[in-house]
Amino acid sequence: MLFEPNVDLAPFNTLALPGRAARYLAISTANQLADGELATARRFILGGGSNLVLSGDFDGLVLHMAIPGKRLVGEDAEAWYIEAGAGENWHDFVQWTLAQGWPGLENLSLIPGTVGAAPIQNIGAYGLEVGELLHTVSAWDFEKRAFFAFDRSICRFAYRDSLFKQEGWHLNGRIAITAVVFRLPKVWQPRLRYAELAQELAARQIATPSAREVANAIIAIRQRKLPDPAVTPNAGSFFHNPVVDAARAAELATSHPTLPRYPQPDGRVKLAAGWLIEQAGWKGKALGPVGMYEKQALVLVNRGGANGADVKRTMAAVQHDVRAKFGVNLTPEPIFL
Ligand code: NAP
Repeated sequence: MLFEPNVDLAPFNTLALPGRAARYLAISTANQLADGELATARRFILGGGSNLVLSGDFDGLVLHMAIPGKRLVGEDAEAWYIEAGAGENWHDFVQWTLAQGWPGLENLSLIPGTVGAAPIQNIGAYGLEVGELLHTVSAWDFEKRAFFAFDRSICRFAYRDSLFKQEGWHLNGRIAITAVVFRLPKVWQPRLRYAELAQELAARQIATPSAREVANAIIAIRQRKLPDPAVTPNAGSFFHNPVVDAARAAELATSHPTLPRYPQPDGRVKLAAGWLIEQAGWKGKALGPVGMYEKQALVLVNRGGANGADVKRTMAAVQHDVRAKFGVNLTPEPIFL
């Protein structure tokens, strides 16, 4: 294997944090993963780098997943089955499915990252999580030295969570996802549960939107609210929305009557992390070069020249202030390398 030594990782993480990889290899075919030399190395599996906080240099091997390809692999009376390589850009893949006439993934338009990373944290937006429309995940297991296909039913999808995260398989470099098959049902209904989406479609005077129109509305909302990583480096939502028990949510609402609360199927209540951060005074505020974005307080941004320690300092300050005001702990969404 021909590894590239001492590779700059700043262009490969959307927070643009500095750090170098001792060794680097772009993976463009799944079979490259079976090489014995990769099995013994300390590894990090890199996708689009859009959910990553780089602490500094990485003294190991970075495998940059770049496996391409997207195709219809099956069809029955109920659904289309579509496979995409792990290295495909997520947003481009979603737009391609829509252009083919296969609706379903439109609510996940403009989420940064790759197809292979999508199942790891079960990406979600506007009332849809990718796990709902996923069929199988193909992956190489470095420990068992074999390829596996993980059926949706064993992927333990939960809120921004999956088997791959729960078992630490992604973080410790045990599993490299090579491809994902999606199952897109032929009977389609737009998901318009989120008020902002419904409002955007109403403003466009669209009463019965097509999947394309839903995607266009979401793209417009996201472009208005979220910073473009190419201009303002960021990693999307930086904290999970905390989920608290119903009694705690009711208690908080007594002292904070405008607190947004979203009841969950298990009886607990989801709070909006962005709202808590804004109320704690962090919207548009920075500590050194790292701050919380002025149009969306949930997004942490690198205003220029930040490193991993700067990110951790701002993260800790935000967590401290939210805990002090609300007694709620915020958990970061990205992984830390
Ligand atoms: P928002 O509309 O300001 O709402 C704040 C939070 O309230 C959201 O995080 C959302 O939770 C929740 N929420 C709103 N309406 C809801 C409803 N009808 N039912 C249940 N929960 C509801 O949200 P936003 O920050 O602009 O984000 C809009 C969507 O894009 C959200 O789904 C968000 O998760 C997604 N997004 C994800 C990322 C990422 O990096 N992961 C980045 C930006 C936006 P949920 O987050 O659970 O949906």
